[in-house]
Order: sequence, then C-alpha cells, then structure tokens
Amino acid sequence: MSALKEKVLIGVGASPGIAIGRAMPLARRPAQLAYRQLNDPADVAKEAERFKAAVQATQDYLSRARDDLGKEMQDYAYIIEAHLLILKDKLIAQRTLDLIQAKKINAEWALGQAVSEAQGAFRKIKDEYIRSRFADVEYVTDQLMRHLSGEEANQLTTMREKAIVVAHDLSPADTSQMDLGWVMGFTTDMGGPTSHTAIMAQAKAIPAVVGLERVSQEVSSGDFLIVDGSSGVVIVNPEEETLLTYREKQEAYEIYAQEVLAQAYLPGETLDGQKVRVEANIELAEEVSSVLNYGAEGIGLYRTEFFYITQKTIPNADELYENFRTVAQRLEGKPVNIRTLDIGGDKFASSMELAPEINPALGLRAIRYCLKERGMFKEQLRAILLASAHGKVRVLFPLISGVSELMEARSVLDEVRAELDAENMAYDHRLEVGIMIEVPSAVAVADLLAKRVDFFSIGTNDLIQYSLAIDRVNEHVAHLYQPLHPAVLRMVRQVVNAAQEEGISVAMCGEMAGDPKMVPLLIGLGLDHLSMNALAIPQVKLVVRLTNCATWRELAKEALTFATAAEVAAFMTSQLKKHYPGMFENVVWAGLEG
Ligand code: PEP
Ligand code: MG
Repeated sequence: MSALKEKVLIGVGASPGIAIGRAMPLARRPAQLAYRQLNDPADVAKEAERFKAAVQATQDYLSRARDDLGKEMQDYAYIIEAHLLILKDKLIAQRTLDLIQAKKINAEWALGQAVSEAQGAFRKIKDEYIRSRFADVEYVTDQLMRHLSGEEANQLTTMREKAIVVAHDLSPADTSQMDLGWVMGFTTDMGGPTSHTAIMAQAKAIPAVVGLERVSQEVSSGDFLIVDGSSGVVIVNPEEETLLTYREKQEAYEIYAQEVLAQAYLPGETLDGQKVRVEANIELAEEVSSVLNYGAEGIGLYRTEFFYITQKTIPNADELYENFRTVAQRLEGKPVNIRTLDIGGDKFASSMELAPEINPALGLRAIRYCLKERGMFKEQLRAILLASAHGKVRVLFPLISGVSELMEARSVLDEVRAELDAENMAYDHRLEVGIMIEVPSAVAVADLLAKRVDFFSIGTNDLIQYSLAIDRVNEHVAHLYQPLHPAVLRMVRQVVNAAQEEGISVAMCGEMAGDPKMVPLLIGLGLDHLSMNALAIPQVKLVVRLTNCATWRELAKEALTFATAAEVAAFMTSQLKKHYPGMFENVVWAGLEG
C-alpha cells in the first residue's frame, strides 16, 4: 500500500465493524508544557485572569455543545453536564488558581500540576469504572489547554471528507459538533468499553477502537488506517496484502452484521418453541434506547451504583424516582429489574464513607450495607415502588446469602409500602421481588428461597468468584476463573431445579449469559431469561433461534457428567461444531484446551 512500514496497534474493541480510510488526527495537548516563573505580582494577577478567561471560554463551549445536541444525542447530555461539573470542581480550576498564586507560575504548568495531583487520587480508586472516569478530567483539561493556547476552531466542525478520527479522547461535546456522516471510524488513546466514545460509536454503529494509549502520537495526518472494532486492532499504513484481507473481512462482516441485526428484533425462541427472553444489563438510563435497538426484550439487570459512584451526595428518593420512571417509560411495557445498591466489594462509592476493609469482597457489601443503612435503602425502595406505577418494574436484591437476609430485606420493602399507602401514593401492588443468586450459600438453600420470591437471577460473576475462591478482579488468578467448572454448572442446575419446583422464573445476568458459545448449554440447563451487555444480544438471539431445546436438555445432562472444566470444554466444542456448522469453528475457552 505504501512505502511506510505497516504498524499494528492493539486497543479495546469498542464498537464492532471494520473501517478503512485516511486518518484525521485531532490536535491534542502538547506532551511538553512550557514552564514560566512569574516574578512580577502584576503578572501573577494577569495569569490568574487569563486562566479564569479560559475557564469561562470552556464553559461557554460546553454549554453551547449541550444546547446543540441533536435529538438523537440527548441521551448523552449528562456527559457534558458531568464535564461542566468537573470544570466547577475545586479539584482542578480552584487548585490551578491556587498554584498560580502560591507558586507564581504560568497557568499551563499549574494546570498540569493540578491534574497530576488529581490523577494520583484517582489511581487509588479500586473500581475500574470510576477510575476510567479520570478520562473526563483529562478531557476538561484538554479543553482548558486549548482555550489557554488561544486555539478557537475545533477541527471536528470543519470536517469535509470521510475519514477516521484519531484523538486522545473524545467527548459528546466534540461529537455533537461534528457531522457523523463524515466519520468512518474512531480511534482514541483513552477509554474502555464503557467510555463515551464507545457508547456513542455503538449507538451510531461506527467502528471504534479505544484505549490505544498512543494512537494520537503514532498516527499523523495522511496516514492510512484499518480499524477493526471487533478485535480492537488498528493497522497503520497497511501492506497491500493486509489491506486485501481486511477488505474481505469488511465485506463479510457487513453481510453478517446485517443478517444478525435483522434477526435481533425477532423474539428469543428456540427451534422447538421454547421461549428464552434475551435482555440487557444497563448502568445508565441513557442506554435504554440503544439496547432496544439491539433487540433487548427488557432490562434483566439495571445496576444502580452509578448515582452513588459519581455524586458527592447520596441521592434521595425523588432523584432516583425520576430516573427509574424514565427507564420504565422508555421501555414501553417491557420489564426492568432494578437492582438495589450493590456497593462495596469491587464497587466504590464517592458519596459514602466506607470503612476500609481487609477483605472487601467478603465485607459490608450490597444488601448487607443496605440493611445497615436503612434510611438510604428505604429511599431506593420508595423510588422503585413509585416508578412501578409507570411500567413493568421489578425489584432485585443482590448478594442474598440466605432466608433471614431475604426476609429482612422484604420487611423493609413492606415498611416502605405501608408508608406509601398511608400517603395514598400509587405503585404496583403486585410488584415482583427477585434475588440475585451469587453466594454459594444461596444455592444450597435455593429451594427455601424459591418459596419466598417471584424470580431468581444468577449472577455468575460473583457466584464463580465465591464458589471457586477466585478474586474476580485479580489478574493473577484470572485463568482459574472457569464458568465451565463442574461445580459452577451443578450450582446453576440446582438453582434452576429449585426455581422450576416452585414455578418461578430463573435468569442469568453474569457475563457467562452473554457468551454465545455458552448459550446452548444454558438453555439446556433450563434458564429461561438471559441478560447481557447489549452488544452481545443480536448474536445470542441468533444462537437461541438456532437451538433445539430438547436436544440441549439431553446434552446438558451429559455435560454435567464430566469431572473437569477442560473435559466440559472439549465436549462443548465438538457439540457446537456439530449443531451449528460454520458458527463456532475457532471457539476458544479462556484458560482451557477446547
Ligand atoms: C454478577 O455478579 O454476576 C452480576 C451480574 O453482578 P455484578 O457484576 O454487578 O456484581
Ligand atoms: Mg454480582
């Protein structure tokens, strides 16, 4: 293709599909900041004013961008709001001003220092999601630097030919200013699968690779790029042969994506008529429209930690109600399982004082925390009950370990119901109550629990962690984290049996449920709802529709006879190849020989 040497960069596939085209790198913060010592007090005052003007200009830019957001991008307004809040936070703006004045230094240098202090604080945060939100601080900093440098026009507004955007990071403020019709793909240094770029690119079906760390430095204007958003690979100035391979891949992907997506709207039902509801896991109300586009038949898991993670104050019932009602209404009758707060463990909250624990995964987490902080728990339950008047809302308690804990949670729910009755407030009097099965003790007493709830949802992320004693966030033991471990499969079977005995529904909402190669086995084990990240839905639905439930009931029985995860994997590989020709040719089971 070119005289330049082909270079391969690996990041995180954030929005599937393949884009091939010219790079359009956006200007970014200089790697080297200039340092100036200000000796004259008048210069210090001037510098402070210059910085304040940059803050004002950034605020104007962000406010304008928020007002300019098109109708279909309204869901992302909250991100710009978050940037406006960061701009007002003393962590950055006030700290920079203080540094200019105390150290008598120029604004750029002071800002750089304030940001690295903030970064130090963020690094200590355990929760990956919040840690990744440092990207927002960096974004606001880039905007401040841009205004400090006097640079006005944003290249994005002047895009006039199709290209692949290469940026350090992107915000909805930027993308709201750009005509997405010109954008073939996105590549960014920053970001993970939950970054704004990822959410937006998925909503717009634009291939994207994020978290490339150095793409904005490695790629120059005029470079030719291949962006493979499915595998997270970016190839800079590809050889002729690579280009040909990717052109073929691109064509095949587009045909496949159209077929899969066209089927995503069909109901989840097996070849022999067994209904398997395919639902989405969400963390933000804003995701609802996008997950519906992927064919979600409801929200199997609404993780509500976001409010507690991003805000400084604990949200009250009114605030939560607004949000839950919006979700219920947007679903237009499709169900949503709102999970009460699952804070602690690997999830950290900025608005709460959580005592440091030696072993947080076994500590004051989720329902245990809520039962201790009754006032806060009641606010959540009130909001959920009130929202139930506006749609098919169900409540889901996380980390229930046994009957007494469940009954305690239920009694708090009854208390809130009585309060609403006394106030004559409307809610769904038949609101269904479910629990997450994610602690081995809950599996052991699943028959007792099934008599006392309306549904189960198996959280395999935690169930595997607690049953195999594998820390889910520890990379050193990640290879031992095996969904196909016979113990895990037996536990799933036991929970399904208990649910079926009592005639209640049983879902799975851990990552395992969204893995297409697991789906036939899960159907065979008797799960009737699967909930997952929205991107997985079209393919999982396709697998559901190609599955014969009766066949897999028998195969699941056989799968349960094996002694090791590797044996189950080998069995699964051969059965998948036999029953889904061409679909699972290169199947890989993490940490196992397939
Ligand atoms: C789980 O544990 O499987 C689950 C879905 O919950 P979370 O990942 O939020 O802990
Ligand atoms: Mg869990």
